[in-house]
Amino acid sequence: MRSFECKSKFVKVRCNKCKNEQIIFGKASTVVKCLVCGTELAKPTGGKAQIKARILEILE
Ligand SMILES: [Zn+2]
Repeated sequence: MRSFECKSKFVKVRCNKCKNEQIIFGKASTVVKCLVCGTELAKPTGGKAQIKARILEILE
């Protein structure tokens, strides 16, 4: 699974497991989980969030 470091404020992502679309904070300071299935979507890495889900759109 490809991971991606994002510096933008908000990103729309799609859960790899259940296809739920969710808008998450690009600088998340805590682990972000899918609201539907609980899969980890992003985790904090020194100020930026490492996005582990598929990114659909960057929201500036
Ligand atoms: Zn999910």
